[in-house]
Amino acid sequence: MSIRKITEYPEEVLAQIGKPVEKFDEELEKLCEDMFETMYDADGVGLAAPQIGLNLRLFVMDCEDIKLVAANPEIIASEGEQSSSEGCLSVGKVPAVVIRPAKATLRAQNLKGEWFEREAEGYAARCFLHETDHCDGKLFIDHLPKMRREMIITKFKKEKRWK
Ligand SMILES: [Zn+2]
Repeated sequence: MSIRKITEYPEEVLAQIGKPVEKFDEELEKLCEDMFETMYDADGVGLAAPQIGLNLRLFVMDCEDIKLVAANPEIIASEGEQSSSEGCLSVGKVPAVVIRPAKATLRAQNLKGEWFEREAEGYAARCFLHETDHCDGKLFIDHLPKMRREMIITKFKKEKRWK
């Protein structure tokens, strides 16, 4: 296992639509181990493949009581609304309030390539949505009004300079 470098805004891979995962082999398993390790090392609750520079529809998460690998994820149902603070390892964890559905159902493939569905609410639902967005080349800041989005980016760039 090894910790990968986390890609950060505005690296292009973060804005690309990921390619489908097609091979469910040992290599994928190892990649996911690295992704979990990278995520835990950065104190994150979810990490998508584009965040380590791979243009792939894949994420791992360990949020509340849900720990999973999701290949080729899609959100097949959502309902309600929640509004709370969200951050992203690729944007230096600068927080912003994002409105999201309160509940979401994820459909994805596990490491064996088997399809599964999982429903979540609250923070875990937010994680499903945030990570699936990454696979579609979308960042959480893309959900914000333009001014607010620019504020977050400016703050992130400033914090990066201080590091
Ligand atoms: Zn993120």
